[in-house]
Amino acid sequence: MHFKREAPKGSSCVKCGKPLAGIPRLLPHEIRKLNKTKRSISRIYGGHLCHDCLKIALKQAVRTLSAA
Ligand SMILES: [Zn+2]
Repeated sequence: MHFKREAPKGSSCVKCGKPLAGIPRLLPHEIRKLNKTKRSISRIYGGHLCHDCLKIALKQAVRTLSAA
């Protein structure tokens, strides 16, 4: 009998810990078979921050820029 390995935990947002959408939850050798675009999100900080946290982070970055 051969058991399939359990899928690893999906990647989550660094800031709030929410699971990230658009990133497959697969074993490393299965991820290697995918296209580059299917492994992660092409957005800035894609695969690290969720869309909500990125929105907030960008707003804060712009405010600190305009204040300086
Ligand atoms: Zn987040």
